[in-house]
Amino acid sequence: MGDVSYRPLIEDMTWSYSRLNSFESCPYAWYLRYILEEKEEPMFYASYGSFIHRLIERYYSGDLPKEEMPTAFLLGFSSEVEGERPPQSTVVKYINAGREYLENFEPFPFEKRGVEEEIHFDVNGANFVAFVDFIGERDGKLAVIDNKSRELKPRSGRKTPTLKDQELDDMLRQLYLYAHAVKQKYGELPSLLCFNCFKNRQFIEEPFDQKAYEEALDWAGRTIETISAEEDFRPYIDYFHCRYLCGYHRDCCYAQGG
Ligand code: SF4
Repeated sequence: MGDVSYRPLIEDMTWSYSRLNSFESCPYAWYLRYILEEKEEPMFYASYGSFIHRLIERYYSGDLPKEEMPTAFLLGFSSEVEGERPPQSTVVKYINAGREYLENFEPFPFEKRGVEEEIHFDVNGANFVAFVDFIGERDGKLAVIDNKSRELKPRSGRKTPTLKDQELDDMLRQLYLYAHAVKQKYGELPSLLCFNCFKNRQFIEEPFDQKAYEEALDWAGRTIETISAEEDFRPYIDYFHCRYLCGYHRDCCYAQGG
């Protein structure tokens, strides 16, 4: 790093929301993942989310009946959820949250149009790929749905946005990029963007907003430009993020307390 330009390599990349967003979390982790292509250790929280995600996908693919979902979760938890465990009380909370969600599982209130659809699309000439968890239709209008373990809340509706509203807006960038992908594949924009937050059992429906859509595309373009111009890939050190979310924390020379 330092006197080497990775611009040609970076400009040739196929982008995704997570490839952009992970740079904002820690440029050094991004460098390890996408430039050096170093292998990451599986981490508990991400692995837990992926496991529930796979169970929902299996239900929609006709491979797992609704009434068998809680059992499949409990039987598979110890082998499917990888990574060093957080404190036992946290593990119990996560098991209970997953079990309760799956015991009360309700299919999304849309007709199925696509599950785990891989869509290749472009944003202002840059190549992108999206894996959209669920594309649905209601009253002739499309919706995109993303499964999240993160505990988002529906918009407060307050005049001054709350921190949770801000968090929701940040996360919606992902769904606006997916909306762009859907437009290129289906020829129309979705009218609803939804998060299925399975851990706190909130299904959030946000109406499509043209301004937020344009801002998300603009953010994608600016972030690609920032990454392309980057030379130092400095670490952003945050104890919880490094210790519990980053799969490089054991080998990272910057990590604290790992
Ligand atoms: S451990 Fe922390 S500083 Fe190191 S790569 Fe991961 S997030 Fe970045």
